[in-house]
Amino acid sequence: MVQNRISDLYRNDAILDHCMNPRNNKLLNDVDFNGDAINPFCGDEIHFSIKLTSIGRISKIGFIGDGCAINQASGSMFSVLVKGFTFNEINECTKLFRQHMQNSEENIMDVGDHDISALFQVRKFPIRIKCVLLACSALENAYQNYIDSI
Ligand code: ZN
Repeated sequence: MVQNRISDLYRNDAILDHCMNPRNNKLLNDVDFNGDAINPFCGDEIHFSIKLTSIGRISKIGFIGDGCAINQASGSMFSVLVKGFTFNEINECTKLFRQHMQNSEENIMDVGDHDISALFQVRKFPIRIKCVLLACSALENAYQNYIDSI
């Protein structure tokens, strides 16, 4: 069966799970960098707080968000995916992810069976891609804050 209804997205186990039980779902007290993104048109918001190890890898990450289920699931999934990454790795990852989401034909990114692969289904619903990509924008904002600090 071809999944082509938006309601199918909300029946996806990984999206449902991250939406109902978001991971890392509070901001940190002890923060090295913040990253924020807001879509004023639909009210979706994502905020990350990030703590780095002494060698520049993410040791702790927290996020809070507001808005639709896809946006919330995306924030939660990204918080899991990028733990342990450097900021340069985050930057590579968000670039690839964007390209993948915006290209409905080619598979540019391979995340194996990581939960975040569930978001790739949203490529079939162009109007909702921005909900997925808001978490990328928030991480890109954190990356920019990091670049500005060095
Ligand atoms: Zn949304």
